[in-house]
Amino acid sequence: MTVASRVCCCDSGKFYAPCCGRFIENDEHAPTAEALMRSRYSAYVLRHEVYLLSTWHKSTRPASLQLDHAATTQWLGLDIKRHVVNAADNDSAIVEFVARFKIGGRLGKRAERMHEVSHFIREQGCWFYVDGEHP
Ligand SMILES: [Zn+2]
Repeated sequence: MTVASRVCCCDSGKFYAPCCGRFIENDEHAPTAEALMRSRYSAYVLRHEVYLLSTWHKSTRPASLQLDHAATTQWLGLDIKRHVVNAADNDSAIVEFVARFKIGGRLGKRAERMHEVSHFIREQGCWFYVDGEHP
């Protein structure tokens, strides 16, 4: 099976191509901060560094990412807890989520949870990830 015909990594229950794939592979702009957040999670699963950097706001974007190409991180799932758009301008939003993953080799794997409140802003119609805090 190709990636496109798989169920999407972001746990939406949709296929990858019409879910996060259209943003990651086809340069479409995510219409909401939540859609962007889901696609960035999928990009971490797929180790798609170019997409992660291109959706990172220029004010906080790192020069490169230390993605885990040895694949010792196994992503287990994503739960979106909250998606709130700033009603004052409609161009900033937060998305709160919990991502579950395992790290480690075949021995001694342990499950971890990453709980983050991510900040997004929209510029010229495109949403960007700015930064996150860990409550
Ligand atoms: Zn998806």
